[in-house]
Amino acid sequence: MQNIRAAHEGVYETLRRIPPKFWSRHTFDNNCKSDHCTNNVTESFNAWIGIQRKLPIISMLEWIRKKLMKRMIGRRNKAESWDSDIPRRIYAQMMKNLQIGNANLICRASEWLYEVDENTKTYIVDLQHHMCDYEQWQVSGIPCVHAMPCIVNSQKDQAQFISQWLKKDTYLRCYSGMIKPIPNRTSWVDAGGDEILPPLVRRPPGRPKITRRREADEVPAHNKRYKMQCTV
Ligand SMILES: [Zn+2]
Repeated sequence: MQNIRAAHEGVYETLRRIPPKFWSRHTFDNNCKSDHCTNNVTESFNAWIGIQRKLPIISMLEWIRKKLMKRMIGRRNKAESWDSDIPRRIYAQMMKNLQIGNANLICRASEWLYEVDENTKTYIVDLQHHMCDYEQWQVSGIPCVHAMPCIVNSQKDQAQFISQWLKKDTYLRCYSGMIKPIPNRTSWVDAGGDEILPPLVRRPPGRPKITRRREADEVPAHNKRYKMQCTV
């Protein structure tokens, strides 16, 4: 934290107000099995819905519904083509960790326990309980650079060492449901009751804002407007 403070006092003050479990991987909940940290989820969602976010609310929601419908079947079809129980992205990360970890010195103590020397530090790797002293494996659910050489050395099935939440089977179960197609509104059954009218709203003056309101300490968006320059 002192290094962050030395780099930027404002960043330090902002981070000090937010519990570390929301932004620092070493304090993430081990049950999550994800070390992904996203701080621009609003921008990601805006990019995902694209220009359609300017549509009226019902039209936009209908468009999102169809997009999700296609996404569910698309993801399911993709996962069904995988020939391994380890998804491709996870396997690529494991191989990367193995490549880096091969430089470490490993020493086997039992069927499941290893001692791993990395530079001047030593870590205990417990294959049976998916644990490494470095604790990245417990957070991410993917065997770390210390665990991967031990797994290869043990000659055990690599798929048993990734979290169950990251396996193909779980991925398929996530996308096993579907969003049912909705028929034309002329064939909808009249549910009875009062006609629901839109609320009375007073339209504020000026054009509605499209860009997201940024916090005071956020970096301002790039201004694309043409700037006048004096050439005299
Ligand atoms: Zn490790």
